[in-house]
Amino acid sequence: MAGPVLACYDVHKSFGKRAARVDVLRGIDLSVDEHEVVALIGASGSGKSTLLRCVNLLERVDDGVIQLDGQDITDPRVNADAIRQKIGIVFQSFNLFPHMTVLDNVTLAPRRVHRRAQVEAERTALGLLERVGLADKAREYPDRLSGGQQQRVAIVRALVNSPRLMLFDEVTSALDPELVGEVLALIRDLKLDGATMLLATHEMSFARRVADRVCFLDDGVILEQGPPAQVLDDPIEPRTQQFLQQVL
Ligand code: ADP
Ligand code: MG
Repeated sequence: MAGPVLACYDVHKSFGKRAARVDVLRGIDLSVDEHEVVALIGASGSGKSTLLRCVNLLERVDDGVIQLDGQDITDPRVNADAIRQKIGIVFQSFNLFPHMTVLDNVTLAPRRVHRRAQVEAERTALGLLERVGLADKAREYPDRLSGGQQQRVAIVRALVNSPRLMLFDEVTSALDPELVGEVLALIRDLKLDGATMLLATHEMSFARRVADRVCFLDDGVILEQGPPAQVLDDPIEPRTQQFLQQVL
């Protein structure tokens, strides 16, 4: 496919009205090419989650355009459910349904949205669970799993539709430190498989290892972007330098 998988042009998003209005995204221009891994870094409140939520159509942009494979997905006439099937998203909190088994959590989306035969959905899901080393947990309930295992299930759930784009929002920040590694390793595997990913992260060493490009988000704009070594080791902007001094 020619052209980027994701392209954002001058995306704006505010919350609240008049005096209480907060301009969270103030003109985001960003593209992600096929097989590319882009890391979004930036202080808490800089707009990382809002940007990911706009891409997944969980929020509507106020201005600007977001394209997925060249299609304007911010056009109000698009079928948001159809677009969301092409975009997998994983959040900080695992958001698994506690009353459903791992397998049911993972197959929920395809059964409801695609109306695919349950058998086929389960076969895909079991294959993916196997791949992430959780096939033996398929019939367990989420509370029987560690946080790292639950987050890997959430990643499988996002993968089950073979999305064109994966979005990760600080997916390790709710995990105990000893469980972070297994989740990051899975994301690294997805990169090796050629997944196209946009991930907000506060793990600078991870961004350095997996990202092809790092974007520093500051107060709703991408202030600086480039290869990890350039942005993380040799940033141009004083604001980026300041941020990295605080987190590294
Ligand atoms: P980050 O993920 O970089 O920490 P967020 O995108 O979560 O940043 O938040 C950016 C700003 O937007 C914050 O000031 C936050 O309070 C505000 N914000 C996010 N979502 C909402 C909302 N639904 N209503 C009002 N303000 C919001
Ligand atoms: Mg956030």
